[in-house]
Amino acid sequence: MSKIQIMDMNLANKIAAGEVVEKTMNVVKELVENSIDAGATTIKIELIDSGVKEIKVIDDGCGMDENDATLAFSRHATSKLKTLDDLFNINSLGFRGEALPSIASVSNIVLKTSNEKTGTMVVVNGGNIESVKSCDLKKGTTIIVKDLFYNTPVRLKYLKSLYTELANISDYVNKMALSYPNIKFVLVNNEKELLNTNGSGDLLKTIFDIYGVVVANKMMYIENMNNDYKISGYISYPELTKSNRGSITLLVNNRVVKNYEIVKAILEAYHTFIPKDRFPYIVLNIEVDPFLVDVNVHPTKMEVKFSKEDSLTSLIMETIDNKLNKKTLIPKAVYENVEDKYYEDDLKVNEDLFGTNSIDDEKEETLEKPKLEELTFDFSVNEEKEKYESEVNPRIKELTPIGIVHGTYIICENPDGMFIIDQHAAAERINYEKYYHALSTHSKNTIDVLIPYKIELPTNEYIILEKNFNILDNLGFKYEEFGNNTLIIRSHPTWLPKYAILEAIRKIIDIIIKEEDFNEDKFNEKVSITLACKMSIKAGDVITMPDITYLINELRHTKNPFTCPHGRPTIITYTKYDLEKLFKRAM
Ligand code: ZN
Ligand code: ZN
Repeated sequence: MSKIQIMDMNLANKIAAGEVVEKTMNVVKELVENSIDAGATTIKIELIDSGVKEIKVIDDGCGMDENDATLAFSRHATSKLKTLDDLFNINSLGFRGEALPSIASVSNIVLKTSNEKTGTMVVVNGGNIESVKSCDLKKGTTIIVKDLFYNTPVRLKYLKSLYTELANISDYVNKMALSYPNIKFVLVNNEKELLNTNGSGDLLKTIFDIYGVVVANKMMYIENMNNDYKISGYISYPELTKSNRGSITLLVNNRVVKNYEIVKAILEAYHTFIPKDRFPYIVLNIEVDPFLVDVNVHPTKMEVKFSKEDSLTSLIMETIDNKLNKKTLIPKAVYENVEDKYYEDDLKVNEDLFGTNSIDDEKEETLEKPKLEELTFDFSVNEEKEKYESEVNPRIKELTPIGIVHGTYIICENPDGMFIIDQHAAAERINYEKYYHALSTHSKNTIDVLIPYKIELPTNEYIILEKNFNILDNLGFKYEEFGNNTLIIRSHPTWLPKYAILEAIRKIIDIIIKEEDFNEDKFNEKVSITLACKMSIKAGDVITMPDITYLINELRHTKNPFTCPHGRPTIITYTKYDLEKLFKRAM
């Protein structure tokens, strides 16, 4: 029986017309996915001039008989699937079928294919089948698409952006290799090999082939499931980040997809572990009953929606969170910087295709420098100590302080090596966790003030604050309104930093006014970060040895001692081995 089936018209219409052959990347995509559908274990993509001159895809798949080989070039024929619902039934990639005839209409094609019983060669020029001959019997399919867009005005446009096209193709092939670690992918442009994966089925090896050894060494395996979803894959250590979302690869039943909410959940899990403008490396496969996935959002761009989305996002967040909170995450001082192989900034990766929608990052607040008397440690939250009896964090060992350099970096040691602590980042982490703890446990201990604080606001701001008085109440403030836009504060929570109470109150009110959708957790976090940054010793502030000892001890009692709440490192290390290597004692 012929494998090619005539696609139902409804589906044909759903495939947005004209989207197929706009770019060389889409042609590569079509051909590669045909090869995957044919069960190939090796797919070699050879390009000349980013594919504009020639795209050759060689696979060792099942091949076609003569009938299928010619039928493949007629419109509305597809060997893929019959309805969109089949899309996530893993065994088929396509809902294309439209594509090959479209590609043929704007190029010259030579197709050689063999199913080991018959070998067929079809030559198609500008959409017309010129010849069908028999040829050799080596199993698989080789398709050569030449002079793409030769008969259309599009061609000129693309000659200008060969680099961008190549970056897009490279990104696409990388992601296919990550989706199919059991297939060997080779990508060559103008005889230069850009990618050659091992095809062993080991995802970490594929990550190594694509991103290199530094990245592969800094990835952690994760796996988890709940009633609806199973997730597995690799996530990077927080120290390994890049400046765009291009290295977040999401797969659903091994197909590359895009989904804003999932990326948001991932970034949320990394929140305070990495700086806001940095992104982790992620390869995450989601296994799910296709029934729970809606691809109709934008089928060709693979934007998907999930039923029971919350179940999925909380599974992802919980899993990443658990992993990040179990590992010791002290970055090594000695470590080559990761230069992204195919992602140099001038090669703009097509974020639109497999990237993710942009999420607004909030800017870190710049705060005025505190006055001198505010520079001492302020651990006034210690009053809450009975309620905040945290254990020493086992992920950070005992450290002996040696001294301080540049008024900022505390040098310590232990048998594992030498450690450098950023005094501001460390103090900020400590204070952040204390404020956050006080806020989220609804610590209601308050202090009456002798001389009430008077806070005057512009009317527009006062109106917003008025609507949110309950937030002030919940925090334990006691106050009264005075005139149209003035608040008299009579008592405040004990955890406010005692050297800058008025300033802290103003900050909190500021945050209340700016908060659009009030979310208690987010609010507590913002207040904690702002106060922590404000109330912590700064770089360059002079501190004594007892202060240093106290700081290290407090840091060892935090939940995440490795980064400040903005995601910057608090501590880095030269391991004993690094030092020996640097001094050539060990090779
Ligand atoms: Zn800070
Ligand atoms: Zn910070």
